[in-house]
Amino acid sequence: MEELELNALSRKPIVIQDVVSSYDRRPDAWRDVSEKEWASWEWQWSHRLLNADDVDRVIGLLPHERRAIEDVADQFSVAVSPHYAALIHSELKAECPIRKQAIPTASELECHEDLMSDPLGEYRHAISFCATRRYPDRALIYTTHECAMRCRHCTRRGRVGLMERISHEDLSKAVECVLAEERVRDVLISGGDPLSLSNEELEFLFASLRKSDHIDVIRLCTRMPCTLPQRFNDPDLLDILNKYSPIYVNTQFNHPYEASCEAAHALKALRQIGCILGNQSVLLRGINDRGEVLEPLYRWLLREGCRPYYLFLCDAAQGTSHFRTSIQAGLEVMDTLRGRLSGLGIPHYVIDLPGGYGKVDLCPQHIEGGEPNARMRIRNWFGAVVDYKDV
Ligand code: SF4
Repeated sequence: MEELELNALSRKPIVIQDVVSSYDRRPDAWRDVSEKEWASWEWQWSHRLLNADDVDRVIGLLPHERRAIEDVADQFSVAVSPHYAALIHSELKAECPIRKQAIPTASELECHEDLMSDPLGEYRHAISFCATRRYPDRALIYTTHECAMRCRHCTRRGRVGLMERISHEDLSKAVECVLAEERVRDVLISGGDPLSLSNEELEFLFASLRKSDHIDVIRLCTRMPCTLPQRFNDPDLLDILNKYSPIYVNTQFNHPYEASCEAAHALKALRQIGCILGNQSVLLRGINDRGEVLEPLYRWLLREGCRPYYLFLCDAAQGTSHFRTSIQAGLEVMDTLRGRLSGLGIPHYVIDLPGGYGKVDLCPQHIEGGEPNARMRIRNWFGAVVDYKDV
């Protein structure tokens, strides 16, 4: 048994690099940018890389990338925040996990019949132009088509960055529809990235939802702690989040190279005003589809008070076939994580079923056989099979 245990532990995780400051890593094109500018979310937002020339000037395009950016532009947009661009490891070239999430490749143009423009059936379950209800007690308000960056694996990539701004009238209507559904207890403010909205619009949303006596939970889905953490240097935003506390903030870190001093600072700022933090990683082929990659990420998140909450099987969205893994690959990741991290660090591994049928937990099988209510054989985290007398 001891030998087995040692063998299991000898599969070493990748080592998380010293947590870096994106300012210290900024590319030469931004060498003259001051620390104050870099820390300003408005500066970060207005200096996003939005086309092939921008990306080439700052991080340098690989030979195949210019053509890919131009080819995919009609279908999917491109945006990379300076903070996120600074995390790219140029020496890894096309294999860099940050680059893969930010810069298009020609694989996005691959067509497969199982890929969908609306993989979660959000249009089908719409209760207003920008609100969806897929469960009796939950509703989602899709607040904006904007984001700090356009993740190449985005489920809503058919809308994000491509459509007209959502009007205040449409947002008001969505809130009205959600408030009218008395069984709804839990509301997700999502998008795009809702923190792309003005503080006034955010306050309108939180204030309207808090007036309801049937809404217990407000969840804010934002990737900005990872992609543009400078947004949380805005004291007015923090005041709003504090005023309508508790807000559950669900963010998305996918790889240890996304750990940064700026992100840690953002998570701390959110914690200090009473936000409850959870992380929703997406399982991405060639990026984080090994337990050894996710383990150090999850350790860092726990240290920063952000609990690994979900590990999503990558949805079947158009242009994402190169990121998708098998269900089995994720089960193996979960098997690796179990025993290496406490239960606090183990996310729910879920598939969000196509067509809006909801999330289903996917769990590694630990019961090896036996007879229910008699003797069962159960496999533990390092492979030992133990007899268990069931009742
Ligand atoms: S931040 Fe979220 S909504 Fe925006 S592109 Fe990334 S995954 Fe999509």
